[in-house]
This record gives sequence, C-alpha cells and structure tokens, in this order.
Amino acid sequence: MEMEKGMGMEMRAREDIEIGEDITPPIPPLSYALHHSFLHSHCYSCFSPLPLPLNSNYNNTKNHHHYYYCSPACSTTRVVSTEELRILQSHHHHPFSSDLRAALRFLQSHPDDRIAGLLTNCHKLLLQEDDEFAATIREGAKAIATATDMASASAALCLVLTNGVEVQDYDGRNLGIAVYPKNFSWINHSCSPNASYHFFLSPPPPCCPNSTKLRILPQHTVLTKDDEVCQDNGPKIVVRSIKRIKQGEQVTVTYTNLLQPKQMRQSELWSRYRFICCCERCSASPPTNVDHTLQEISSASLDASSVSSDQNVYRDYAIRRLTDYIDDAILQYLSFGDPELCCEKLENLLTQGLLYEQLEGGEVKSQPTIKLHPLHFLCLNAYTTLASAYKVRASDLLGLYSEMDEHLLEALDLSRTSAAYSLLLAGATHHLFRFESSLIATVANFWISAGDSLLTLSRSPAWSEFAKWDLPIANPPLLKHICSKCSLMDNFKAILFHREAQNADFEDISSEFLDCVTIITQKVWSFLIPGCCYLRAFKDPIDFSWLGTSKYSSLRDVRPHLCCTAEGHLQERMHIFQLGVHCLLYGGYLASICYGRHSNLTSQVQNILDCEECLINDSHESD
Ligand SMILES: [Zn+2]
Ligand SMILES: [Zn+2]
Ligand SMILES: [Zn+2]
Repeated sequence: MEMEKGMGMEMRAREDIEIGEDITPPIPPLSYALHHSFLHSHCYSCFSPLPLPLNSNYNNTKNHHHYYYCSPACSTTRVVSTEELRILQSHHHHPFSSDLRAALRFLQSHPDDRIAGLLTNCHKLLLQEDDEFAATIREGAKAIATATDMASASAALCLVLTNGVEVQDYDGRNLGIAVYPKNFSWINHSCSPNASYHFFLSPPPPCCPNSTKLRILPQHTVLTKDDEVCQDNGPKIVVRSIKRIKQGEQVTVTYTNLLQPKQMRQSELWSRYRFICCCERCSASPPTNVDHTLQEISSASLDASSVSSDQNVYRDYAIRRLTDYIDDAILQYLSFGDPELCCEKLENLLTQGLLYEQLEGGEVKSQPTIKLHPLHFLCLNAYTTLASAYKVRASDLLGLYSEMDEHLLEALDLSRTSAAYSLLLAGATHHLFRFESSLIATVANFWISAGDSLLTLSRSPAWSEFAKWDLPIANPPLLKHICSKCSLMDNFKAILFHREAQNADFEDISSEFLDCVTIITQKVWSFLIPGCCYLRAFKDPIDFSWLGTSKYSSLRDVRPHLCCTAEGHLQERMHIFQLGVHCLLYGGYLASICYGRHSNLTSQVQNILDCEECLINDSHESD
C-alpha cells in the first residue's frame, strides 16, 4: 500500500464510473499466506473453506498435515518450499508469522524484481534501533534469511508489512495476508473513500473469465502489459466503486475501520503503515459531523467550571477508563465465555455511565459521572457485542431446557433484547451513513444481521407458550414477504436476476425502506425492549434526527408494552417478521452495491428468505 504523496503513486479513473461497478478485474496476488489458525479449515492455495473431511483432502506426502488443499488444481498451483515448511513449523508464534511466509514466497516467486513497483517503507519501519516493532521485523527477517541475504529478507518483509492486505471472508474473518500488484497497491487510502474491495475465494478458474477491464491508471507511470496479466492462484481482489467517480478523479479505498473516530484511525494507520492521513475527512475543521458524533461524551452532571481548566486531560483519561472497561467486558464474553456477566457490565456502563475518583494532592476528589453519547463508537461496539451475547444466551437456554415453560419465555426475552440491539446498531450506523456514504459496507452488514435476528425471533419456539394462555396461536398464514407499501422485494429480485443496482434508484429505495421500517418499528419497539432499561430510553431506534437539534428530547422512558392475548402476540410476531424481511432486503441491496449482485452476501440474504418461504409452505401444508 502506498502513501507517499507526489510520487505519482496513485490511481485515477480512466472513465466516468457509476456507483456499484467493478473497477478492476479480479486481480491475483503477487504473494500470499494463510494465517496459522485457518490451516486446518481452509485451502492453503485459494483460502476457500475445505469441502471434505481433512483426511481425504489433497495434500502432498511431505506435508505431515500442516496444510491442506481443496482440489488437485490448488495443490499444483501452490507448491510449498522446504524453507516455507520450516517457518510454518517453527515460527508460527512470531507476531508476523503469516507475513514471514508471504515475504519468503515473494522472494522465491520474484527473484529478479524484488520490488515489483511497490514501496517497502523499509527505512521508516527499521528507523529506530530501540523500536520494538523494528526489532520484531529484524528477528523475522533472520528467520527467512536462510533462503537469501539479510538485506533482501528485511526488504521483502517490509514490503509485505507495507502492502499486505488482510484477506477476509464474508463473515469478516481475517483468513490470511496477500500482497497485490501495483494496479491495486497504488490505490491510496482515504477515510472517506470512493471505492471498496472484496475477495474471490475459489479454486482457480480457467484463466481470465472476467470481462471487466482495468478502469484505473496511475497518473504519471505507465502500467505494463504484465500488470494486467492473469495468473491463476491465490485469493483474488476486486475493487468496486461505492460512490460515483468522475474521469480523472483519484480512486481511494480504506485501510482501516471507518467507524472509528479520527484519532483512532490515525494511530492505527501510523502504527501499521507509518503515515499520517491527510484526507478530506481527517483535515476537516471543525471535525466532520460523523467524527464529532463518534466521540461525543454527554453527561448531565458534567459541571463546566470544574473541568474547563483541564478538560482535555480529564476527557482523555475518562475515555481510556471507559475503553478499558468495555474491552474488559467484551473479553469476559469472548475469552471466558461468560455472556451474562458481559451483558451486565456493558448495560451498567451504558445506563449509569462511569463514576470514578481521582487522587489530587493526596486527596480523593470525586469527578462527575461520564456518560457516552448513544452514537459514540464505544457504544456501537457495545451494541454489537450485546446483540451477539444475548443471542448466544437465548440459544444456550433453548438448547438446555427446551421442555420447560419458564425457560422458553426467558429465551424469548433474551432473543428480543438481542434483536433490539441489532436494530439499534443498524439504525445508529444508518444515521451516520447519511453523512458519510463510504460507510455503506458496514451498514449493509448491520442491516442484514438485524434482519436475521428479527427473523430468528419470529421463529422462536417460545411463541407457542402464549397459545396456552388464550386461543391457540395459528400457524402464521399472515407472514408474507411481499409488502404492499414498498417495492423492496421487487427491486431485490430484479437485482438478483436481471441487472446491477442503479444509481438513480438509490435515493428512492432508501427512502421507501425508511418509511416502511419506521412505521413497523413503531409497532414493535415497545414489545422488543421490556427486558432492558438502556433500550427503554430510546423512543425510536431508527430515527436519530433529534441528535442534531435538542439533545435527548427524544430519549425518554418508553413504557414497555405487554399484550396479553394470543391475537396480540400473533400481531407482534407478524410485525417482527415483516421488519426482519425489510432489513434483510435493504441490507442485501446495499451489499449488492459494495460486493456485486453475485456476491456471497447477497446470496446469503436470498437463502434466508428462501428458507422462510419453505417454513411458511411447510406450515401451510401441516394446517
Ligand atoms: Zn483451493
Ligand atoms: Zn483520513
Ligand atoms: Zn415495505
């Protein structure tokens, strides 16, 4: 990845590009390496999940089960050298373990052109003798220097560290590292980029099946014929427009998570790539609306006079404390498998804020409570975790005590809290997306998980419990995909079967979606939130327009709504189902813009919907 300005290392559009179009053909990597933790589940060559039980996979006899291939084709395209096998065996604890293998592979496959037109940032990375990062690089270079001299080894490792991209699957997992040639690597970073990239993981196809040409060019340098040449191994990368790009305009992608505030993006870019981002979003003064919101603190008890003198120090300190607290709670869940304690800790913080005491001149001085703004990036992290933790708790409970009534109802409570947090997360990010359209991929994912959560909730076996109170609850004949008020379904089908998403439709589809979803949300929100006092403070999880004007005027304690008839529950269930379908369709539409209409994510949406259709048909037959 390049970041030096004024060196002509940037890519510009050859022609006008609309939103949601492929800008490059699938580009194969110069070098790549699967991360150690995926060696037993993914193909060493193409990174796709292994289709067969491990022992029947294609592997070569020298392998000793260190790595596997998905097909005979893959096993011939990615031959592992003795040196690589040695690093695989004995250096997998090195912090740059995958980078070492990628660097070695790069050296072996490019014996004559050890730069391949890329920058290495070597001088910057190795600059300081006492720098821990530099020491780790030197130690790593030593490991690969048996195959070459030390200078080439460090240069290759720096090249991988500077240009390497994490190859992600559609679940957002980082499978491995890959270095792409300059027609990708010369694309600069921006925190408000106009393009995004995704990967093709599959066994090697026949050469060059894709018709898309390279639609970008460097400004001063000329790409040679070799730059467009098609090899056929490794995970391929495709760049796609997420905004309209004019001919001659610079094409940019992001190297970092765009849902972080400026300071975090900058420190991550610095520690990983050693550059300071000067993009439009970073240089905006005052900070952009989104960056301001992502780090806003609110506190009713924050007394201006007591903090004005050292407000910044106090603020920084408070944020560190809050970050530690949240990280700790998340660790509780992810590493120690205690979702319940995690939920309790996060909700305490969200509802009550963090009160702490500070020592000042030997005296304990109480500082005001710090509360986070509901769209603070730490809150967004908390919502993501809570949605997942409540979902796990619900399914654990269903698995353990499926026969017991009270557990069924408790599981239903947990599922609805999970769905409510998913919806809040999607709504909150959507609000930010209105100001920063490059957040499109993130928003697509959040709407899809909200849709998935809501549909899971609508299918919960616990609904049958309500039937015992009153009339038998009918199998839901009212659950229909087609909404009479909007054309989301037609649009989604059209994109799947006939055409790409179109620029002109974007505003219409979004506003139709928001209209429908706002109406349905009003009907179910009070049913989703009774289990959680933080959520009860939100009048509406979708509409955050009140944020800019009078703060929190719209935050109030919503009276939880508990209906007590089977008929009422049938209504709730139907609304939850409809809301889920809307979220899924809109998420699928946004995903088709970022990843193309044939992407895994769009077909995942289609699969969930098809699956619903089967369930409905089954229930009709059993009537
Ligand atoms: Zn493969
Ligand atoms: Zn920036
Ligand atoms: Zn609708």
